[in-house]
Amino acid sequence: MKLPKIVLLGPPGAGKGTQGSLISEYFGIAHITTGNALRINRDLETELGTPGSFIDRGELVPDSIVNEIVEVEIKKASGFVLDGYPRNRKQAEYLSTISEIDKIIYLDVASEELIKRLSGRRVCSSCGENYHIEFRPPKKNGKCDLCSSELVQRSDDQEETILNRLRVFSEHTEPVLEYYINREGFVRIEGRDNPEDVWESIRKIFEEG
Ligand code: ADP
Ligand code: ADP
Ligand code: ZN
Repeated sequence: MKLPKIVLLGPPGAGKGTQGSLISEYFGIAHITTGNALRINRDLETELGTPGSFIDRGELVPDSIVNEIVEVEIKKASGFVLDGYPRNRKQAEYLSTISEIDKIIYLDVASEELIKRLSGRRVCSSCGENYHIEFRPPKKNGKCDLCSSELVQRSDDQEETILNRLRVFSEHTEPVLEYYINREGFVRIEGRDNPEDVWESIRKIFEEG
């Protein structure tokens, strides 16, 4: 079977990381997360500044930096789920020159819910596993279920930066939805439900072909 090439779109906090992991496990494909790649390289000096300086303001990291990361990862994988890319129209156009995408899944969630999800998000400082203080609490307060390391709040999950990220989404990433909406393979998923139900809706899309 040919492994699928999937783009997972959605505003900050929509559940891209959560669902992206499930999709990648289910199909045995790479989970390419530009956010993680950029956080790992947050202090990398480039002509345009460090990735961290953009992330902490809730702004997009320049296309040239992100495109290069994605191209390297895509070339290594025969199937993948792209989580957090493309985030503007130029990136979407660039992607079309390096790969053919089978499915574009848009996780739709209203902004009040996004703010709750992002402000309660905690991540493992060691393995990166994701939690939520209310919706997905760890078994032991403040500690990762998988590796017992400390859970931390991402520096950009502070109220002011969250609001800026939501503005950046409507200004730059909503045009990406317009770019894909009439293409074959585009599907909108209701992302408000609990993670298991969202995953069920995603799995159904692939069963239906
Ligand atoms: P994204 O990668 O789109 O920013 P995440 O997958 O990191 O989103 O989810 C954001 C936060 O919301 C995390 O704390 C996660 O545990 C929680 N979360 C994810 N999906 C759901 C859901 N369907 N319902 C409630 N909380 C969720
Ligand atoms: P979320 O979906 O919760 O906003 P991500 O981990 O996907 O979180 O992204 C965190 C930050 O990393 C973004 O706010 C942005 O600064 C940067 N980033 C991630 N992906 C891209 C991208 N495709 N283009 C530009 N910047 C990106
Ligand atoms: Zn961990």
